[in-house]
Amino acid sequence: MKSKYYAEPFKIKMVEPIKILSEEVRLKKIEEAHYNLFYLDSEDIYIDLLSDSGTGAMSTEQWAGMMKGDEAYSGSKNYKKLVETAQKIFGYKYIQPVHQGRAAEKVVMPIFLGPGKYAISNMHFDTTRAHVEIAGARAIDCVVSDALDTETYSPFKGNMDTKKLIELIEKYRPENIGLIIMTITNNSAGGQPVSMENLKETSEIAKKYNIPLLIDAARFAENAYFIKTREKGYEDKSIREIVLEMFSYAQIFTMSSKKDAIVNMGGLIGIKDDEELYEEVKLKTIPLEGFVSYGGLAGRDLEALAIGLEEGIDINYLRYRIGQMEYLASRLDEAGIPYQYPVGGHAVFIDAKKLLPHIPYYEFPGHALAVELYKEAGIRTCDIGSYMLGNDPDTGEQLQSPFEFTRLAIPRRVYTQSHLDVVADALIAIKERAETIKGYKILWEPKILRHFTAKLKPIE
Ligand SMILES: *Cc1c(COP(=O)(O)O)cnc(C)c1O
Repeated sequence: MKSKYYAEPFKIKMVEPIKILSEEVRLKKIEEAHYNLFYLDSEDIYIDLLSDSGTGAMSTEQWAGMMKGDEAYSGSKNYKKLVETAQKIFGYKYIQPVHQGRAAEKVVMPIFLGPGKYAISNMHFDTTRAHVEIAGARAIDCVVSDALDTETYSPFKGNMDTKKLIELIEKYRPENIGLIIMTITNNSAGGQPVSMENLKETSEIAKKYNIPLLIDAARFAENAYFIKTREKGYEDKSIREIVLEMFSYAQIFTMSSKKDAIVNMGGLIGIKDDEELYEEVKLKTIPLEGFVSYGGLAGRDLEALAIGLEEGIDINYLRYRIGQMEYLASRLDEAGIPYQYPVGGHAVFIDAKKLLPHIPYYEFPGHALAVELYKEAGIRTCDIGSYMLGNDPDTGEQLQSPFEFTRLAIPRRVYTQSHLDVVADALIAIKERAETIKGYKILWEPKILRHFTAKLKPIE
């Protein structure tokens, strides 16, 4: 028997009750949270789609692994297992654990970047952009124009615009480009994948100009699944083979293991074969993250991460995972709700610019829809648009994002299809009253990564 969507390839052994507050209480809670969803208490949320980062459910094997934590300060068993597992999956000689993705960025970015330098990426994730800027450099996005058209099908909307990449390198001069960064999948473009062909071409350009290529690898397994199912010549290759080929094109990766490695905390740095670079990474890791063999994590965390890396590349798991996105997207199709199409790997990105066309970018349509979803059904999501992008670091002016998305990030192995139905129904109800929804004004904001802590107010 073959059904349209793949049912959960697991059964539930432990449950965590959730509750739904009345609408009246929700309205009060969001006002008290200064209309910033990051300030809400998680117990006041019914379905939490704020992030797929660190929110996944670990397996029985991972929990069993937690009991095998070797908490020695140096040289633990779990460290050895993690390094061996990661070496095998990525084909890189040197593996350095860190406590999460941004810690990897904090260690790596200053090695390659400084004042007067540039990083060019298919799209920088927000913390990646922050660490490029903290290092004193500037971050330039260079995604294919297909990504900007949310309605038309294109299999690899996460790709680097390689023609533009060459122009940018020539314009800013190769010696000033500290890094080329390939984010897989391309989170900010809607969890959109990068093709093997594009990775290869980008790698050839990087090589020609002698610029290192770094993979921002948070969702490497989902990207590999899209290559398998969408790119010619890869249908019969295993996820493992595809992952090995993907990483062969870069020299270094930084990874948040809180995504595809299905742990609640963790990160990795991988270096293909440059021993000198590894020495530098180790030197920086020790004062920032802790000794080389634990990198800001407990031994038990290293064990769960090693197991999660393997579970994350399991084809049955990936089929179910991407199937969840496809199911939710099919419900939105029926109702004519616009989203980044085709649906990405870890989330459905609602096109708030299209759903709320009366709200301009500087009044944050993606954020307005996120607040509305909480008011409607206690669902927490977030803006991936101008609100998240923030201000120009040189002029202080509000930047305009090419997208105004509200991101419905789906935690791994956590919610069922019925939960996704609640989400679809809430969006349908909001669509009916879309023109009554107001934009937002920022009352207070910090200098960088403002979306986490800014305070807002609806515009009357
Ligand atoms: C999550 C993420 C990061 C940062 O990782 P954290 O673990 O949240 O610090 C970097 N890049 C991408 C693409 C991400 O999705």
